[in-house]
Amino acid sequence: MLVSAKEMLQKAKAGHYAVGQFNINNLEWTKSILLTAQEMDSPVILGVSEGAGKYMCGFKTVSAMVKAMIEELNITVPVALHLDHGTYEGCYKCIEAGFSSIMFDGSSYPIDENVAKTKELVKICAEKGMSLEAEVGSIGGEEDGVVGMGECADPDECKAIADLGVDMLAAGIGNIHGKYPANWPGLSFETLAAVQEKTGEMPLVLHGGTGIPDDMIKKAINLGVAKINVNTECQLSFAAATRKYIEEGKDLQGKGYDPRKLLAPGAEAIKATVREKIELFGSAGKASE
Ligand SMILES: [Zn+2]
Repeated sequence: MLVSAKEMLQKAKAGHYAVGQFNINNLEWTKSILLTAQEMDSPVILGVSEGAGKYMCGFKTVSAMVKAMIEELNITVPVALHLDHGTYEGCYKCIEAGFSSIMFDGSSYPIDENVAKTKELVKICAEKGMSLEAEVGSIGGEEDGVVGMGECADPDECKAIADLGVDMLAAGIGNIHGKYPANWPGLSFETLAAVQEKTGEMPLVLHGGTGIPDDMIKKAINLGVAKINVNTECQLSFAAATRKYIEEGKDLQGKGYDPRKLLAPGAEAIKATVREKIELFGSAGKASE
């Protein structure tokens, strides 16, 4: 069932586990993630970046596909359809397209403008029953062409944004998108603890979940992270499984070229990655609790 992310994240925060946001790129991705969440009785968030939304022929196409799939596959666990790193304009497009959740990434605006725009979106989301994620302090790495340096958020700025009534807050704590470089210093737990202290019950979001060691993930959850974004890891699993299939010449055997066969190992690999993350985040079995 399609729901806002508000309730599932409040429960996660109270229960000291995190809900995974898995980004989708096409039908196979969406199907693999939904089926795995259902199988594991876990709430789940489907993330859609503006680039992926464009690739999938627009947010309306994505919204229609996800809603139909939830119905046709009998998905009963809570599912949120969430815009990832939305621009101001992109947020409005997703509100109109029937998403249940949006992230407004105002981190590139001066704090005053970030606050003004977030305030406006808080009001609209409350009216529509949607959840809203805000960001303070840019996340490092590359996201749709924008390169952030992985700075740490100012806890007072986090409090200012949290007080506006957003449902979840992404605070930069040294995390980055994509693969982590070998010389990455790790997450700043001091920043996370300071942000948590200022924002209290606010579910915190950890972006760039790919490649963060498991013990750091667990520590972050203990310190108040209730949503973890995973994107690159599913892409790497899908690519590796597809590469193996082709390198073994399986596409040349019988009807191995049939897309339903050619894409099957990749789809299974996504399921395995999602299963592993749901276990690590501790959200398995929580949907029906
Ligand atoms: Zn992100």
